[in-house]
Amino acid sequence: MTRPSATGSSDRAQSETAQSESTRLDDRSAMALALVEASLAADAGDVPVGAVALVDGQVIASRHNEREQRGDPVAHAELLVLQDAAAVIGSWRLEAVTLVVTLEPCPMCAGALVAARVGRLVFGAADSKAGACGSLYNLCADPRLNHEIPITAGVRADEAAELLTGFFTERRA
Ligand SMILES: [Zn+2]
Repeated sequence: MTRPSATGSSDRAQSETAQSESTRLDDRSAMALALVEASLAADAGDVPVGAVALVDGQVIASRHNEREQRGDPVAHAELLVLQDAAAVIGSWRLEAVTLVVTLEPCPMCAGALVAARVGRLVFGAADSKAGACGSLYNLCADPRLNHEIPITAGVRADEAAELLTGFFTERRA
């Protein structure tokens, strides 16, 4: 990977730039972290879905589905990670945030992503039963709404789907 040379900046600024770029996560690496989060959900009997929020390729928040654990119908990974990210940033406006989630967001979460003005969405497996970012609806790309979100779909989709299949197979056994 090439990087533009930092001209005219101090050594200190240069080394900080070098460090932040060296830890900048690409989509697949960020999804790997979301998958680790997802597996934590399964430990508590929750459907394994995990999400991370990034700003400039750095993770600022990381959560998993806690619906069973908290007995809370809205405790989806995406909503929890949005709340954490807003607390870190100090604003409800999350235009600088890339949200990476293992499963295509449902209508509730997709609505929250639009409300939060999230800058970009990356998801793993598509959800043919509840997906609202391309499968059943696409709330992220509806010009009638006040914000549209670029989507990258299918990142490590097989791994995310495998985690879900394994969870439900185990529950039925
Ligand atoms: Zn959801």
